[in-house]
Amino acid sequence: MSSPASSPAIYAARIDKVRAAMAERGVDVVAVSVGRDLPYLTGYEAMPLERLTLLVLPRDGEATLLVPALEAPRVVEQPGAFTVRPWVEGVDPIALAAELVGPAATVAVGDQMWARFLVELLPWLPAAKFTRAVGVVGPLRVTKDATEVAALRAAAAAADRVAAQLHAGEIALAGRTEAEVSAEISARLLAEGHDKVNFAIVASGPNAASPHHHASSKVIADGEIVLCDFGGTMNGYCSDITRCVHLGEPPAEIAEAYAVLHAAQAAGVAAGVVGTPAEEVDRAARALIADAGYGEYFIHRTGHGIGMEEHEDPYIIEGNTQPLAAGHAYSVEPGIYIAGRWGMRLEDIVVAAEAGPDRLNHADHDLVVLG
Ligand code: ZN
Ligand code: ZN
Ligand code: ZN
Repeated sequence: MSSPASSPAIYAARIDKVRAAMAERGVDVVAVSVGRDLPYLTGYEAMPLERLTLLVLPRDGEATLLVPALEAPRVVEQPGAFTVRPWVEGVDPIALAAELVGPAATVAVGDQMWARFLVELLPWLPAAKFTRAVGVVGPLRVTKDATEVAALRAAAAAADRVAAQLHAGEIALAGRTEAEVSAEISARLLAEGHDKVNFAIVASGPNAASPHHHASSKVIADGEIVLCDFGGTMNGYCSDITRCVHLGEPPAEIAEAYAVLHAAQAAGVAAGVVGTPAEEVDRAARALIADAGYGEYFIHRTGHGIGMEEHEDPYIIEGNTQPLAAGHAYSVEPGIYIAGRWGMRLEDIVVAAEAGPDRLNHADHDLVVLG
């Protein structure tokens, strides 16, 4: 799985921006291992192995990607961005890493670097001060460039196609278990171009009242609402969509609640204007649900950022005053959950843009009636 940003210039530009952030924050060296920062900066995704992979990025001087020799053939070199330094079995890669880092004052390490590597590195660098790389890489990753937005759009379109298949009745529901339907949605995500499925929640009837319900052995029955929330990774970027269908005409109570949910989700999307604090998107969606009397049944934040990870900054939640900027990508996914009875959620991915909120998901937003 590689990043769609294939030009060496893109990685060199990202590394330059990290260096500028390092200067601002007094960081001398960034060291990132497994996790998403590495493909963001190099295009290379390390397997989560016990063998050390480490990008050593000094503020001044050349960046070096230390990789196990047997993994080196998978690395696509990006001239001008970094050089590749394979290490062979028998050599201590920690000693090599320590040498590349040098006796730096402040080293920022990636959150997902294995503890064993950091623990082994510490005695080699007794004078160094360690901090988290998220401080210098995170602010860059939150703002997606055009290539990244294109990748998110393609992943969303693939998820939309699966949602359309659900709406068209091509995915049998009544009489099957939630787990069977989840497996079919997963297969369809792959068939539509995803490299990997990250989750496929299928929650029917009372199970839909649990927002992160795991698809179970419960058999889906006529007369139930079926909530499907699924997503995966395509060319390094994630999709995430929620749609609900109803098997047979919904009772008035569910139809009325869904109309409120639909309007609330649209209000949340519309609120995502550049410069607006993230929490205002949450408030916009929540206000409609509260005004209709369902406030206590909307039991989670309105959304989360999305990119190389399913959940990342910016979080769409009360208290997040960070202003939305062009290129911020996030979900808008209000829900209404009546414990023991039913639940519903409606989710799209949105990118903040100067021209206004750019909704990436276009699958039918109605509560589609099937059967
Ligand atoms: Zn979630
Ligand atoms: Zn979702
Ligand atoms: Zn989501």
